[in-house]
Parts: sequence; C-alpha cells; structure tokens
Amino acid sequence: MNIKAKKKFGQNFLKDKSIVEEIIKAIPNSNHKLIEIGPGLGDLTEHLLKSQDVVAFEIDLDLCKYLNDKFSEEIESGKLQLICGDVLEFWSSGKLMEDDYKIVANLPYYIATNIILKALQDSSCNSITVMIQKEVADKFLADVGEREFSSLSVIAQSLGDVRHIVEAPPSAFDPPPKVVSSVIEFKKLHESLSSEFLDFLRSAFQQPRKTLMKNLSQKYSREYLEKIFEQLDLTQSIRPHQVDKMDYHQIYEMLEDLKIGRERGVTKT
Ligand code: SAM
Repeated sequence: MNIKAKKKFGQNFLKDKSIVEEIIKAIPNSNHKLIEIGPGLGDLTEHLLKSQDVVAFEIDLDLCKYLNDKFSEEIESGKLQLICGDVLEFWSSGKLMEDDYKIVANLPYYIATNIILKALQDSSCNSITVMIQKEVADKFLADVGEREFSSLSVIAQSLGDVRHIVEAPPSAFDPPPKVVSSVIEFKKLHESLSSEFLDFLRSAFQQPRKTLMKNLSQKYSREYLEKIFEQLDLTQSIRPHQVDKMDYHQIYEMLEDLKIGRERGVTKT
C-alpha cells in the first residue's frame, strides 16, 4: 500500500530508530494503560506492542486501513485497540478514558499544545512522553527568568515534573519537518488546575514583553495588585517571565481571598 504523508494531519513519520528507542526507554514503567496518539505507519506502535497492550487513536482513515491490516493479529487478540477518529473528540468530557493511562506519541504539531494541555488537566492521565516541536518543548521546560518561561511552564511545572529526553533533527523524519523537534516527558503529581487559575495565567502572560502589572491590571483591580506585589516583594516593572510558579499561585490566591472581581474596576468598593 502506497501511503503519502498528509500535511493537514501533521504527518512526519519518525524514521530514526535510535530516537524511537530513546522514547521507549523514557516511558515510565507502570501498569497504567498505554495510549498512543497518531500511530501513523505504526513504527513506534510495533515497538510498544513488544512489551505492552496499546490503545491507539488515528484520525486518518487511510492509515487506519493500513494499520488494521498490519496489526490484524494484535487487534484480533486484543493487544491493540485501534480507534479511528479525532482524539480531541474523545476528550470532550474532560477524560480520555476512565482507567489511569500514560500517553506516548510523536504528536501532530498543529494540535500538540492542545493535546498536552488536555492530558495535563485529565485526572486519569499519569504521564505524557511526546515528541513535539522544540520551540514548544522549550516553553514547557523553561526555568523562571528564561525568555521562554510562559504560562505553559507554570501549568506543566505546577502539575508535576517535566524533563527533556532527546532532540531530533528534521532528518529523523520522512518527510522532514521545517523545525527541530524534542521529546519531553511529563510526570503528573497533581490532578488538575482550576479553570479560574488558567484564566488568571492567560491574563498574566497576555503580552509577555509588557510588565506583569500592566497585563494583570487589564482584568484585576490595580489598587489590590499593588498591595499584593508589595507584600510579595515584586517590583512594578517585573515582566511575566521573571515571576516564579509559586508567586503566581500566591498572587492568584491573594486575589481570590480579597474577593477581587474579575472585571477591572468592579471590586473597588
Ligand atoms: N507515530 C507516527 C510516527 O512516529 O511516525 C506518526 C506521527 S505523525 C507526526 C502524527 C500522527 O497523528 C499522524 O499519523 C496523523 O494522522 C495523526 N493525527 C493527526 N491529527 C490527529 C488527531 N486529531 N487525532 C488522532 N490522530 C491524529
């Protein structure tokens, strides 16, 4: 069967076997269900099936037919469950499945951040080992003070540990993508963050190069923010990437405690 990579589904098939091995080595050794998102031509799937059962979600119906053929025995025996469709649609209720699970994937880059955020917020998800665009991986991994430190860093590092596994040049894929890729691993230690805290972070990093005070005062009372900044010893000129994870949680909790309204000015009573 002649399969041509489809750009619209972010298909860049991983051909470098040493990187496939690095991914396999990085997967936490737990009994949780193993989910692969976007098995593609099944190269990674084949390795995964050597040691465990796999549930795989694939959107491309041509690839689904190909995989059904390639893994007919494993599907028959129940080792592989192949689900054809958009993985995001199966997530609509906030959980991808009831059982605890871990994700392994070479993710389609056009929805990689979305998938990771959904998995991080899914209480059934225990770990995520994924290949993504390096530029996005650097945001999840960044330390406070680094230019890349962003709301993604705060979210991921608030929910658990994030580590870098390996980098992959474009030549590791067929067809080669335009960008360098990285494999990263998230180990979840906490279930999820509230949607109000996520909204707060969105405001904090709205304009990353402006001051945190300017960004937050678009939404929260400046008077209260000034008090909170003073208590936490944060200068008014501090930028969003210079404030650490714990301070973000503190600012948010102090705003909550003060019952500050969500719209600018509402709370100045
Ligand atoms: N795992 C294969 C590999 O490493 O060679 C393929 C990786 S390729 C970067 C991304 C895969 O995700 C493709 O097979 C693509 O069809 C699939 N995909 C894209 N969007 C998807 C979605 N919304 N739900 C499920 N699979 C998707």
